[in-house]
Amino acid sequence: MRGSGFVLVLTVAAGCRVVVPGDGRVVLVEPDEAVDAAYSIELKRSVHFWDVTGACFRVREELVDGEPIAARVPFVADGARSNAADPQLAWYAEAEGRVHVPIGELQELDVDHDELTALFAHELGHALGLNHLPQQVALMAPHVPALQQLTDADVREFCTRWTTPICAGP
Ligand SMILES: [Zn+2]
Repeated sequence: MRGSGFVLVLTVAAGCRVVVPGDGRVVLVEPDEAVDAAYSIELKRSVHFWDVTGACFRVREELVDGEPIAARVPFVADGARSNAADPQLAWYAEAEGRVHVPIGELQELDVDHDELTALFAHELGHALGLNHLPQQVALMAPHVPALQQLTDADVREFCTRWTTPICAGP
């Protein structure tokens, strides 16, 4: 009987998944010109949702001179949404490490400031490597509620991926 032989299967596509540091090193959130013009206020608020965990997203104007930047998350204006990537109106493209923002569609739908802010913060959660949570009221819920801050479930999920002082609690 012939052996079936060996098939080498590579299950890890190295370099395919971009996950930004959530360990306290600074991650620069960089909107392109169009996203900055449309949503600089929402973006500036959204980066601070994750502060409570010890993850450190910052926009450029907040950087301290000479502060080392561990990674960048560009936010790029985009004309089309992607239901495949995320059932939301903005999405984190994992292979690129960028968040796509369909500005025209968001403006057409009249998405309000709080919803947009939570949406951007949610996409930054994906950039940290977090997946959706089953809870309906969590920033990382599949349909993002207009929260002003993370829930305990979001923080617990963060702590399954990253180790920061807040994750070492009692
Ligand atoms: Zn999502």
